[in-house]
Amino acid sequence: MNIDSINNGIVIDHIKAGQAMKIYDFLELDKLDCAVAIIKNATSNKQGKKDIIKIDSQLDVDLNALGYIDPSITINIIVDGVRVKKYHPELPLTITNIIRCKNPRCITSTEQELPHVFKLTNREKDEYRCIYCESRASI
Ligand SMILES: [Zn+2]
Repeated sequence: MNIDSINNGIVIDHIKAGQAMKIYDFLELDKLDCAVAIIKNATSNKQGKKDIIKIDSQLDVDLNALGYIDPSITINIIVDGVRVKKYHPELPLTITNIIRCKNPRCITSTEQELPHVFKLTNREKDEYRCIYCESRASI
């Protein structure tokens, strides 16, 4: 893959420097067969340093969930070599099984099969709370 150009795929840009692996793990990119390029510490006019991930394939995942990890990233969708869409992920209203509730008294610590679900409770503050015990999530 020429890392400068992908024909059909996704470019995740403006990732905070050092966060690319977190997104890589989150999207489970290690399970893909297609080419994936991670560019670390690229120079950015806006941020100083940034990470970039290029995926040479369309992913069937909700990229808005990335808004929880880093709402300032830019997602570029490339089709036939042309950027057809560019957007920032929205903070998802609920996130499931991305973070775990750390409250030892929470029902999720005894009921292992329960999904870990957090709800957005304050958009300005990026605040999520466990739907069972209302503990605040820590990123
Ligand atoms: Zn909880």
